[in-house]
Amino acid sequence: MIGVKSLKGKKDGGYPVVLTTDRTLASDYNGSEFIGFGATFPRVLPDLLYSSFFAPSVPHHDGVMKYGHCGSRKVEAALLNDGFKQGDVVIGHPDHLDKLVGPKTEALGITTHDPLGLGPASTTFSSFVGGEPYSSHYFKKLVKYPELSKFDINVIVGGPGTWQLDDKRIMKKYDVDTIVIGEGEKVAPEIFGKALKSEDLPKKVVGDVVDIKDIPRIQGPTINGLVEISRGCGRGCDFCNPTLLNLRHRPVKEIIEEVELNTRTGKEKTILHAEDVLRYGSKTLSPEPKKLMTLLKRVKKHTNRVDFSHVALASAASEPELIENISELFDVGGEGKPWFSAQTGVETGSPELASKHIKGKAKPFDAKEWPSVVRRAFDIFDENDWIPCATLILGLPGENSDDVIKTMELLDDLSDKDFFIVPLMFVPLGMSEDKDFFSRGDMEPEHWQLLAKCIRKDFDMVPKLIDDVSDMGGMNFLKRYGYHFMSKIFMRRLEPHLDVMEDGYDPAKV
Ligand code: SF4
Repeated sequence: MIGVKSLKGKKDGGYPVVLTTDRTLASDYNGSEFIGFGATFPRVLPDLLYSSFFAPSVPHHDGVMKYGHCGSRKVEAALLNDGFKQGDVVIGHPDHLDKLVGPKTEALGITTHDPLGLGPASTTFSSFVGGEPYSSHYFKKLVKYPELSKFDINVIVGGPGTWQLDDKRIMKKYDVDTIVIGEGEKVAPEIFGKALKSEDLPKKVVGDVVDIKDIPRIQGPTINGLVEISRGCGRGCDFCNPTLLNLRHRPVKEIIEEVELNTRTGKEKTILHAEDVLRYGSKTLSPEPKKLMTLLKRVKKHTNRVDFSHVALASAASEPELIENISELFDVGGEGKPWFSAQTGVETGSPELASKHIKGKAKPFDAKEWPSVVRRAFDIFDENDWIPCATLILGLPGENSDDVIKTMELLDDLSDKDFFIVPLMFVPLGMSEDKDFFSRGDMEPEHWQLLAKCIRKDFDMVPKLIDDVSDMGGMNFLKRYGYHFMSKIFMRRLEPHLDVMEDGYDPAKV
């Protein structure tokens, strides 16, 4: 474990570079990434209950985290490869920075997903429930950590949510010195190097796309064994981050080394991360089954507890045999692995909107066939014991009531399958950044009905999720009981609101 043997810590004046995340990213969520969505939920539970129950902390030794966020691990590796000394760079626990920073600390590097709660999931949940999400609450708590103000430390923020801080006044408000937009590994050595030499730092740095050979190998284990296998996407949905346009795949050898490094720590679980794991090794918008299966067979030699971060529905629909082979390889549906999970994007059930906004997502099929692509992919998942966690977007530019009705019809068609569905309000990003945010006030009666449908589906699924995660060793009896208890209370409280929503009204106005 990096840094532990050569601990400098407080007694030596602190580590020169401390990398960290907000507290919501310092948890394995009891081994279930689905529960991690809770970080974007308004703070309905007291912090103590949230952090001990839903988001238990990653273990640490004197503030040094045993498992790091994959983004922080990449920055750490980039710095070490560039000649920073081992033991000068450390992945620190956000609640224990007092053990790590001191007069010799020059830089605090923060990886963030949602620093101000402006991401699609946070804005959606906040607009219905009200209040600040855990993600931004803990980010603000992190940058205002009392120990930081005692020393002259440069705060450098990167990660997928950094766009939310891209304004000098906002940076000043949260004491952020530098933001890194885009990929961080190429620019990190220069920025942190400047900080160590006490040179002035730029306010904003745009990190270029990193060549595949320059994506560094992590040097310490990651939370939930997450290993990046590909970077970028190339499908080009018009509301998505443009840095995802460039698709690259990492060599099998490097991926296996990282899987090995993670499993050596005693944690069996591995999450293979890509925007579409099914397209590993492919240069087109269709999977290359042989390449993915070669990788997975090598992974299987190290662990059977594998999940994927994201898959594209079109990839599954175009290669049903690939899904079958993956399930067979990992004995999905058998003892110990009742189902396989991955996040995916349905976004809409309207062929017209699909043709307008997510043409590439449907490839190799025509976007006009999108609803049948979704149905086919869900059939294949169902037959092979996969439980996808799918997103929907409310308020895509140009959406009308007919489009929303088509999305509801699509959900009805899928209702006998197991899946989670997360409705998100449209957030203008990427090529859509000139469009407006979609908000509660913009909701038509059909949006309320669609939302109620999603909530009912998810609450139907929750007991199964709790029992299966618990059976797989992710939570003890007490937590299992607590989760069941709380989900029942939530559902009971929501029931009258759902009835109103099903009639097409905003429950706050009735
Ligand atoms: S498929 Fe997903 S990751 Fe790829 S461009 Fe579309 S929204 Fe972005």
